[in-house]
Amino acid sequence: MDSKEIRKRFLDFFERKQHEIVPSAPLVIHNDPTLMFTNAGMNQFKDYFLGNSDPSSKRIADTQKCLRVSGKHNDLEEVGLDTYHHTMFEMLGNWSFGDYFKKEAIQWAWELLTVEFGLPKDRLYASVFGGDEEDNMPLDQEALDLWKDIMPEERIVFGNKKDNFWEMGDTGPCGPCSEIHIDLRSDAEVAKIPGKDLVNNDHPQVVEIWNLVFMQFNRLANGSLQKLPAQHVDTGMGFERLAMAIQKKTSNYDTDVFTPLINFTADKAKVQYGQDEKTDIALRVISDHIRAIAFTIADGQLPSNNKAGYVIRRILRRAVRYGYTFLNFKEPFLYELLPVLAQQFDGVFPELVSQQDFVAKVIREEESSFLRTLDKGLTKLEVIKNQVENTTKVIDGKVAFELYDTYGFPFDLTSLIARENGLSVDEAAFKEEMQVQKNRSKQDAATSKGDWIEVKAIDEVVFLGYDAVKSTAQISKYREV
Ligand code: ATP
Ligand code: MG
Ligand code: MG
Ligand code: MG
Repeated sequence: MDSKEIRKRFLDFFERKQHEIVPSAPLVIHNDPTLMFTNAGMNQFKDYFLGNSDPSSKRIADTQKCLRVSGKHNDLEEVGLDTYHHTMFEMLGNWSFGDYFKKEAIQWAWELLTVEFGLPKDRLYASVFGGDEEDNMPLDQEALDLWKDIMPEERIVFGNKKDNFWEMGDTGPCGPCSEIHIDLRSDAEVAKIPGKDLVNNDHPQVVEIWNLVFMQFNRLANGSLQKLPAQHVDTGMGFERLAMAIQKKTSNYDTDVFTPLINFTADKAKVQYGQDEKTDIALRVISDHIRAIAFTIADGQLPSNNKAGYVIRRILRRAVRYGYTFLNFKEPFLYELLPVLAQQFDGVFPELVSQQDFVAKVIREEESSFLRTLDKGLTKLEVIKNQVENTTKVIDGKVAFELYDTYGFPFDLTSLIARENGLSVDEAAFKEEMQVQKNRSKQDAATSKGDWIEVKAIDEVVFLGYDAVKSTAQISKYREV
């Protein structure tokens, strides 16, 4: 079953259960000071849970574009090294706003996975919130009983607050969750160690696929839990992980969500995926990062030097450097993946398809600009590496700052290269240098007051679609960054 069919079947299944199917919210969030990017399906429904507004329907389902590269959920360091965390991924979800609760949510999840998708029952595990005595939080007996009707007790695991209790913030709606995990190892491996022992243990083939959150409490400022007047369900399933399970693969990158991107890049580099660890990591990183970059730009966030724009620029430069060092790409290459991506998401995320040429152009310009300094920066790093590798093994903050300031190396890129070479970077000293520069430019700005008309940075411009701004000064301003 290809991934398009999987996504469609998920949505059709919940439509048959009377859910309204809604579009994904944009990846970039403009009106929430606590969050830069959408990192879960529920983000766009936050106000429904807080009671600030009412949903169009009590049952909703969708596929949500998510990005986990900053804040509480930051998976960037895992990407490419492991085979199941991405920067950008789709979260399939179904919601009940004061309508059905645990019974239906659990039964439907089980029905979808085992009947509709035919996943092997004996390889699925459920986790249940085991309670927390210190915090006076009860075990989720109701979920436990429901799972016991479905699977033998030896496949049910108890989780702690970190994995199995969801809270929106210090106060507000919260509740226990039940996660579904799948064991994709061979029978021989399973015979050696039971899958149950590997759940939530970072095993690449025993992975979490679906999280079912049951919002039943309101956390008060004094820390106590009050029963919510209406109970809600919020679920999130990793689409690429689901595809891995259904397509009987052991890596998300072996599913048809990623193979077209990997194959295109490997062909271009004249290498083969699966032959060499370093090349493989680079191919995974590139096929992951291009999705994050392309979708964020399509949703209105251009790469820039601050806030959300800088997050995208950092991801893009990270991808460029992986290609440069490990695949010998000395010219822009990421932008060439746009037609491959657009074809994959045709009919799913039209915003990418309709803007593919513009997005490719932005990416190409970003790549060219970084490639102009990348080589010099890498040479500089090589010299420093030779100096410190037999002494302190620490790269001076001043050097990291020079790499940032003169060669456009984001701090995390310098740190990544350092790590690859068994070194680290003095981050505190880097931050000090950064502060010195900020103070300096503040002074400069103060003295030149009156000579300049303040121009709003592109980040502060409200995004109305590229057609609205394409030909204006804002885009040419962006080119000069
Ligand atoms: P994990 O423990 O694997 O990091 P999580 O508990 O942080 O996952 P949730 O916040 O519960 O994830 O999100 C719901 C679902 O989204 C997960 O069950 C998983 O299938 C998927 N998911 C989470 N993070 C990622 C990611 N970085 N890349 C791909 N899928 C993800
Ligand atoms: Mg996580
Ligand atoms: Mg988890
Ligand atoms: Mg989870």
